[in-house]
Amino acid sequence: MKLQTYEELLHSKYRLSLMLYLFLNMATSLFFMLPINKGENISFSLPAMLIVLLSLLQLAFWILKPEKKWPLLSFTAFIMGGLWAWLIAHKSELIFYFDGSFLLVSLMAVFFIGTISLNEHLLAFCLHIAPPSLTVMLLDRGQHPLTLLFTITLPLLGFTLQSLMQRRSDHFTRRLLFQLYEEKQTWSDLSMLDPLTGLYNRRGLKNRLENLLENQAGSHFVMLLDIDNFKSYNDNYGHAMGDQALTRVSAAIRDAVRSRDIVTRYGGEEFLVLMTNVNASIAMKLAERIRQYVLDLEIPHQFNHRVSTHVTISAGIAPIIEEDFEQAMANADRALYVAKNRGRNTILSWEELCETNLIPAPVDLI
Ligand code: GH3
Ligand code: MG
Ligand code: MG
Repeated sequence: MKLQTYEELLHSKYRLSLMLYLFLNMATSLFFMLPINKGENISFSLPAMLIVLLSLLQLAFWILKPEKKWPLLSFTAFIMGGLWAWLIAHKSELIFYFDGSFLLVSLMAVFFIGTISLNEHLLAFCLHIAPPSLTVMLLDRGQHPLTLLFTITLPLLGFTLQSLMQRRSDHFTRRLLFQLYEEKQTWSDLSMLDPLTGLYNRRGLKNRLENLLENQAGSHFVMLLDIDNFKSYNDNYGHAMGDQALTRVSAAIRDAVRSRDIVTRYGGEEFLVLMTNVNASIAMKLAERIRQYVLDLEIPHQFNHRVSTHVTISAGIAPIIEEDFEQAMANADRALYVAKNRGRNTILSWEELCETNLIPAPVDLI
């Protein structure tokens, strides 16, 4: 299984810890069934068999269903801890010569299982070792207090410290990953915006368009806009003033349409507005509003000959039919071409063009 995210990695680690825990429990309890001293028989004690059975069943489940995300570790550790306590108590009754070494070996075995497999799961570790540790202390009846204290406290202390260090490093990794995701998102957002106007660029449009056509069935319109005689504006007022005018016109277009409309700087002084869920008359009203807003900016333009003494804009509108965006663009482009020919500072829709049978030969303005 190829891991895609950090969450998937954590799940996989959790699953592997649980499987290792089950395997070690099973192997150790099988060993505990073997005769300890010469002359003894194999002892199929109930707690040992329960440990084997429970481990086998869960192992089979996790192998067959690797994608399941059930937090079973602490619960399993709690049950296993109880079974180990039972097994140690049961087995110690069967020992003929009791010198405490069995208890020590048992305790070490239980700690070994926990330390190896539960090293990132402090709660599960405690649940696993608590019942056997208590049982061993009770069974020992205070005969080896120092040895037991050492056997229990040293791993517990080491484990707690190790767990704290691990937590710190996990926290650091998570923070780093989060930062990385955020930066990636910021870069991805920035790459979709035009730096001069803050509007979407073509990449942003493509992204929004894909979402729109996939998720929103409805009547959408394309509007292509082009600033009139902008070359002469640049030539006479200079490029810096041209940039300023472009920025102000962009803001006016954004202000004139609704927030859900997608405004793009499509080329140098050309804009595209994707009007979502509108009919022809609303689309026309929005276009007219843009034209008026741009005119109302009153940006002086003495070389906008025969149109106005201010900067003006022309537009062509066309509906997107059967999700064919390219065709709608071509239609809006033709309408814009005719709008320019009609004297600029003009809005024209594709439908109006068809009604007047004025469809010109395709000319690429953009
Ligand atoms: P029309 O009314 O037919 O659209 O005439 P026009 O002069 O606007 O058309 P044309 O395509 O000949 O000129 C577009 C000009 O837009 C050319 C260029 O000087 C200017 N322009 C394009 N991008 C930028 C930009 O980023 N900044 C500035 N300042 N000017 C730009
Ligand atoms: Mg142009
Ligand atoms: Mg122009």
